[in-house]
Amino acid sequence: MTPWEGKGAHYLVGEKAEFAGKRVVIIGGGDSACDWVLNLLGTASEITLVHRRAAFRAHEVTVNNVMQAASDGRVDVRVPYQIREVSGNGRIERITLFHSEDDSDVVELDCDAVLLQLGFKTALGPLKDWPLEVEKGSIKVDQVMKTSMEAVWAAGDITIFDGKLKLIATGFAEAAIAVAQAVHHIRPETKIQPKYSTPAGRAAATRSRTRPPA
Ligand SMILES: Cc1cc2nc3c(=O)[nH]c(=O)nc-3n(C[C@H](O)[C@H](O)[C@H](O)COP(=O)(O)OP(=O)(O)OC[C@H]3O[C@@H](n4cnc5c(N)ncnc54)[C@H](O)[C@@H]3O)c2cc1C
Repeated sequence: MTPWEGKGAHYLVGEKAEFAGKRVVIIGGGDSACDWVLNLLGTASEITLVHRRAAFRAHEVTVNNVMQAASDGRVDVRVPYQIREVSGNGRIERITLFHSEDDSDVVELDCDAVLLQLGFKTALGPLKDWPLEVEKGSIKVDQVMKTSMEAVWAAGDITIFDGKLKLIATGFAEAAIAVAQAVHHIRPETKIQPKYSTPAGRAAATRSRTRPPA
């Protein structure tokens, strides 16, 4: 797809307006692909979702919403199909797909843009050279987010521990725990439990307002 970059092939969505009124083909079967199908409804003039397998790997609710949009005629879902060719005169004008299990089954679609949402490749990069315990490509931490290295804590998708969830909410919680531990390590006189930012007076006022009348 590299020769078509800037000529209708996109790996990222900068501004949704770039796709306004366009016939967009989205490639992928994970959260990114399905999220962009839903996000571009009402912006793109036509949306086709192409995935090489019949099953999607996205959040169940998102997949249901995509399927609902498909049965409402707002999205054309093509599974299991893969890209054979992209063509056009200077810009993408057409995409040719083939069926994953029968490559003689070929579909040609006119389109203005192809959005490739094939997932992210995560890598530890230079952290690989640190003396960190690594499991399944992630940094192993204990229950207080401490790594195997002295005075190094980790939080977020990069960590692994029993019961790990890669979610924004859990990432924030891990970060709060890691920072509290790090602060306590640097300043042992401080308590691990930080002070609340809610002013005591406001909390007291809220309590008195919610107290039932005597
Ligand atoms: C398509 C998709 C949909 C999702 N939907 C949901 C959802 O609905 N709800 C939910 O809770 N979670 C969702 N998630 C998961 C959520 O996005 C992650 O759990 C969360 O973003 C993890 O945050 P993080 O800060 O650990 O990592 P990231 O958000 O990945 O942030 C890491 C940052 O570090 C930067 N970086 C990487 N290497 C370097 C380097 N060497 N130097 C400097 N910077 C570097 C990266 O560019 C990136 O900005 C989704 C994930 C995906 C992929």
